[in-house]
Amino acid sequence: MTPPLIGLLDCNNFFVSCERLFRPDLIGKPVLVLSSNDGCVVARSQEVKDIGVSMGVPYFQIKDIIQKHDITVFSSHFALYRDLSRRVFSVMRSELEVVEQYSIDEAFFRIEGEPLEVAFRVKLAVEKAVGIPVSVGVAPTKTLAKVANDRAKKSAGIHVLDTVIWRERAKKVPLAQIWGVGGKSELRYKQHGLQSVADLLQADPARVTKLFGIGGWRLQQELAGISVLSLQQKHDPQRSVMSSRSFPKTTTERSVLADAVSYHIRHAAADLRAQAQLAARLTVTIRPNRHGDFILRGGTKEVVLAVPTDDTFVLLEVAKNILFELYEAGVPYKKAGVVLSGLIPAGGGEQSLFDQAELGRHNSILAVVDRLNKREGKEVLLIGSRLSTHKWQALAEVCSPAYTTRWREIVTVNAK
Ligand SMILES: [Mg+2]
Repeated sequence: MTPPLIGLLDCNNFFVSCERLFRPDLIGKPVLVLSSNDGCVVARSQEVKDIGVSMGVPYFQIKDIIQKHDITVFSSHFALYRDLSRRVFSVMRSELEVVEQYSIDEAFFRIEGEPLEVAFRVKLAVEKAVGIPVSVGVAPTKTLAKVANDRAKKSAGIHVLDTVIWRERAKKVPLAQIWGVGGKSELRYKQHGLQSVADLLQADPARVTKLFGIGGWRLQQELAGISVLSLQQKHDPQRSVMSSRSFPKTTTERSVLADAVSYHIRHAAADLRAQAQLAARLTVTIRPNRHGDFILRGGTKEVVLAVPTDDTFVLLEVAKNILFELYEAGVPYKKAGVVLSGLIPAGGGEQSLFDQAELGRHNSILAVVDRLNKREGKEVLLIGSRLSTHKWQALAEVCSPAYTTRWREIVTVNAK
């Protein structure tokens, strides 16, 4: 029996498509989305790509081009994107047996049945239910499914890779175009004379392993159509939860950092509760400006928690202590963040050491907080923030409304 094929579904220009969903007047027109703090371009519509605007280019550099081509610009609106992302994957999970989410807008899945038929069915289901255009690539391996998906995007939105033709054309495909190859690894392959996919396919596997390690061998196998990067059979709960962000301006104030860290703790802990997990470890990071004399300052510290927890109050206390240890007066900090790791499923009885009464009180407060904040799509109830400085927060000057996540901004459709 031949092993099952792997599909990759990828949303087209995801952030742009999310914005267009509520602004259909922008379909076919140039649209771009900026990073938080409106720093640089993080998503482009096809029209913007055709104009020649690159990914990651700073906003201020292209203000003229934006005006000249009448490009519509949005700030990143992550609550909206996350919400639509969840919808995409829930449709996929209802249509397919094995789905492995890979990023906010991509998921691998197992093809069961006729490949074209399955690809078409899932594409149609997502587009109909969510309204976001998607592309589907199908191939024997994850790495080739990525290749197939790129081709799908350039054609009708579906591409089933023919491995015979793939091998014939492998000479013309640079290794640098392949998923996972880039930067240092690209350079290392080049140094050993491997430029194209064909070069790697023809190399002796033992030599490949010796030169590039297990990663090189895996890549060779995957490109040859032998699947070694398996699909995760079940939805794998996340291994860690993180929240971090750069500040629009550097700060030397401890109180501002404390405000930022407590914001991140509240968000990460709410994510943890939504996934029914507890964290055993907490990491706090504060980072100085990359440019300048302070690059080596600041830092990161991880602590193992006394008891795995999802309790915002407990995490805030620990995080504050870590921050105060890390903080150095006079250093211009540019970023703060937290990571909750060592995750285990909640409800395993780990909390028995706690004072049950207090825990119960925290849990019911947190349940109310989560419900309200989720409904509003932003923090209406804050825990542990005594400051309202928000000096470090994103300047979302052109943010689209929270169409799907905030009641007050939900679109009203008038049926005639
Ligand atoms: Mg995409």
